[in-house]
Amino acid sequence: MKSLSKLFRYGPGPSSSHTIAPFSAAKRFASLIKEGEKVEVTFYGSLAYTFRGHHSDSSVKLGLEGHEVTVISDTTAKPPHPLTMKFVSPSLTHVYFSLGGGEIHSDTDPEVNEEDIYPFPTFADFVREYVGSGCRSIPEFCQRYESKDIDEYLYGILEKMFWAIDRGITTCGPIPVNKNPRLQVWRSARDIYQKALTIPAGQGKMELLLSAYAYAVAESSACGETVVTSPTCGSSGVLPAVLYYLFKNKGVPLSKIKESLYIAGMVGDTVKQNASIAGSVGGCQAEIGTATSMAAAALGYCDGLSLHQIEYGAEVAMEHFLGLSCDPVDGYVVIPCIERNGIGAIRAYDSYLYAKHIEPIRKNQVSFDDVVKAMKITGDSLDSKYKETSLGGLAEILKQ
Ligand code: SF4
Repeated sequence: MKSLSKLFRYGPGPSSSHTIAPFSAAKRFASLIKEGEKVEVTFYGSLAYTFRGHHSDSSVKLGLEGHEVTVISDTTAKPPHPLTMKFVSPSLTHVYFSLGGGEIHSDTDPEVNEEDIYPFPTFADFVREYVGSGCRSIPEFCQRYESKDIDEYLYGILEKMFWAIDRGITTCGPIPVNKNPRLQVWRSARDIYQKALTIPAGQGKMELLLSAYAYAVAESSACGETVVTSPTCGSSGVLPAVLYYLFKNKGVPLSKIKESLYIAGMVGDTVKQNASIAGSVGGCQAEIGTATSMAAAALGYCDGLSLHQIEYGAEVAMEHFLGLSCDPVDGYVVIPCIERNGIGAIRAYDSYLYAKHIEPIRKNQVSFDDVVKAMKITGDSLDSKYKETSLGGLAEILKQ
């Protein structure tokens, strides 16, 4: 598994795989070619279908600033990966794959490939290694593998997550999508937050607060503003929403919340290593499902649940999102994505409650690794219409 700094990144929305990764690939390619060379970029697979709504074209142009760039989309070729980009200049050709969460991989430019730092691939391996390590806490265990500044890095990540929420719950205005009047959407986090403040505790206040926080980040991402990939931009509202709720509404100390990013990261890394966190590879179960598992684990950690209960919460969160399709309408990460972040945050809280109260009563039969395997085989057998091509589901029903 890779460093938590490779899971929690910071960049412009609306999509880590379609916006941040193309930008990184373009910047890397620009660093390898001569000044002023013309560049042709071809998008394949999901990128070819949804590049406009995901701003992939403008992000490669930004990464290749100073070069004349032609962008081509090829929906006919069968690419080796659902998110493939080819960069061609007179002096160089490279092919990059976007793996999800902003990570890029290349067979022709292997220097961009990121290394594993955790010498174990599954959640069960992580638990076994941790229990046998003699470490007093999960952060202490992870710090054995991470660079020295990881704690500081995670504090920075938390600050950026919370900043996106502070910004989102005080901002209004339209979310820029195409001209289809049926799809015009306005930022609503601020109004949801104001509504939540008027509701007495126990009558839906918590659910509305979680939704307001999740919408705040997801709407920022949809507007192309900077967010933390947790694990992706499309699902960037779920984990920050529950963490912000714990901090602002429950008084959990920031240091404890920062610590919870370690276990949330282990959960996300397990999915990334053994299945995928990209909607274009595994459907929305890979994005919102993973984000919800990460958030449930963080909630369990902050409440002092056992590692077994934390795993239960992460497992339940994913299990009931299995098969969730990715069908962003018109290729914009707006419908159903923003609302889905709110639902994910509430589901994370419910999963944590199951872990806390039901796990001691009824033994869970499904491990987190089991559900990740199930997610992978489900994702592999999903039709490509439901994997971020905007050809099926809601995208089909609401198309212009
Ligand atoms: S439907 Fe889910 S996976 Fe697809 S773009 Fe939206 S948030 Fe991402």
